[in-house]
Amino acid sequence: MEIIRAADRPTRTAPPDRFTGQVWQDEVVVGEAPSRMRATSVSFAPGARTAWHAHPLGQVLWVLSGIGRFQVEGGPVRALYPGDTVRIPPDVRHWHGAAPDRLFVHLAMSEVEPGSGGTQWFEKVGDADYAAAPAD
Ligand code: MN
Repeated sequence: MEIIRAADRPTRTAPPDRFTGQVWQDEVVVGEAPSRMRATSVSFAPGARTAWHAHPLGQVLWVLSGIGRFQVEGGPVRALYPGDTVRIPPDVRHWHGAAPDRLFVHLAMSEVEPGSGGTQWFEKVGDADYAAAPAD
């Protein structure tokens, strides 16, 4: 077993070409083979969000705090609240982020296929798409 100390892993700033606004990433675990597990805590400032993207093996989000937004391409914007789980199928274009006026933190969990390309990134989410009133 291994304890990985929080103090040994500084918070990273998310890459600005893949996110809008201020976003921070705290690595939770990158599994060692044969594990394919990967988990990251992601903190979004109000209004911040991912670009459109897709995960080859899907992704699960678990909301830790704040109020968030989520959208699958072609579907309505949805609101997310602490304790909610979002199950995202493989290769589905989507984005996630904070509500316009609230901080938002989620745990992002996925599996990574050895030798595969990982997450596919596309264009940023425009302000009009982002600002749509959530269906719930
Ligand atoms: Mn995602």
